Amino acid sequence: MRPTTLIVGAGLAGARCAETLRAEGYDGRVILVGEERCPPYERPALSKQLLNGTKSSEALGLRPDGFWQEQEIELLLGMRIARVDARSRNAITDDGRILPWDSLVLATGARARTLPDLPAGVHVLRTLDHALALRAELRPGRRLAVVGAGFIGGEVATSAASLGVDVTVVEAAPVPLERVLGCEAGLLIAERYREQGVGLRLNAGLAGFRRGPGGRVRGLLLTDGSEIGCDVAVLGIGAEPVTPVGAPAGAGGIPTDACGRTALPGVYACGDVASTFRPSLGRRIRVEHWTSAAAQGAAVAHAVLGREEPHDDPPFFWSDQLGLRLQYVGHGEGWTRVEIDGSGDSFSVRYLGEDGALVAALLANRPAEAATVRRELAA
Ligand SMILES: Cc1cc2nc3c(=O)[nH]c(=O)nc-3n(C[C@H](O)[C@H](O)[C@H](O)COP(=O)(O)OP(=O)(O)OC[C@H]3O[C@@H](n4cnc5c(N)ncnc54)[C@H](O)[C@@H]3O)c2cc1C
Repeated sequence: MRPTTLIVGAGLAGARCAETLRAEGYDGRVILVGEERCPPYERPALSKQLLNGTKSSEALGLRPDGFWQEQEIELLLGMRIARVDARSRNAITDDGRILPWDSLVLATGARARTLPDLPAGVHVLRTLDHALALRAELRPGRRLAVVGAGFIGGEVATSAASLGVDVTVVEAAPVPLERVLGCEAGLLIAERYREQGVGLRLNAGLAGFRRGPGGRVRGLLLTDGSEIGCDVAVLGIGAEPVTPVGAPAGAGGIPTDACGRTALPGVYACGDVASTFRPSLGRRIRVEHWTSAAAQGAAVAHAVLGREEPHDDPPFFWSDQLGLRLQYVGHGEGWTRVEIDGSGDSFSVRYLGEDGALVAALLANRPAEAATVRRELAA
């Protein structure tokens, strides 16, 4: 009998795993199950091109229509796996359907953090449905308040401002992106908010919402006692891994080795949900980066095929915000000082360890330097 690989989660990691299996000659059944109703798509475009209106939802597909069928990948959409059972090798859907597997790949990604009891008009952004709902609310002259000056918050603010929306971003930390980029780079980003005319309130946490007629949001109440009036709000307060019941879960995602194998035989994990061992760092990390999700999906496909092809490239992500193409290479922990070159709309920040060695680097509108930095870090 042909073996079956069941992939839970039809996002980038799951899709890349499925297509790599086929490209590498896997002749078993490949079933790709996705809770969302649309075929795998480019999630990064949600806060950028889809929100600013330069791309339609139809243009976001990872592969052309027909690709999945051509590749004999059984794409089951609008279906959620409620539970997996590693002993019987079954996965059970929300409506009680049983899907047996020989290899199980958990590629369930992450979900946007939210808050209880949100008034109407407050959005989060993780899925295409979220992005379309938010897009429909952004009109010139409306006031948008964004909670969190992280990557999603900065991108949403930028896209909304380009549509003529009056945007204010609220951030509890003293500078944007402080936790990821550090204070020095955060100051450069804060300056960029000012240059681009996007409102930024620092050192201000969210205490609650003011509700207007019909319970709709009319303002953010801040921890310093002030208020920001708004017609629409977005929570950009991070994401957390989605682990189905029965999955081998650790505190920060599903622990795997560098090939995506979990502690359970025949069970793998990749993408935003996985906390993957990085030989070069000597420990596991969970990242939410497009390139890692794609590479881990491919590494898992190889592992299913019995090939040892660990993924250990330096982490890399990009973000488009405030007129900057930000590129970040490396895993920014353990740095003790930074070297900054440039400012405004073109700068680089090098994060150095105690021994002066490069740990990570941030490039703003300096795409030509990215390959050099990656080589330096890989070495
Ligand atoms: C708005 C936005 C912008 C981004 N921009 C960038 C960027 O500029 N650069 C960058 O490097 N990264 C960016 N990212 C991060 C990048 O998109 C993710 O790292 C990548 O999509 C992760 O892929 P994944 O397949 O692991 O997870 P996901 O893309 O989250 O896919 C997981 C899928 O699994 C489904 N699922 C979950 N549980 C179940 C279940 N039980 N049953 C069935 N299906 C299930 C989910 O519905 C989802 O469709 C961005 C993310 C967002 C949200």
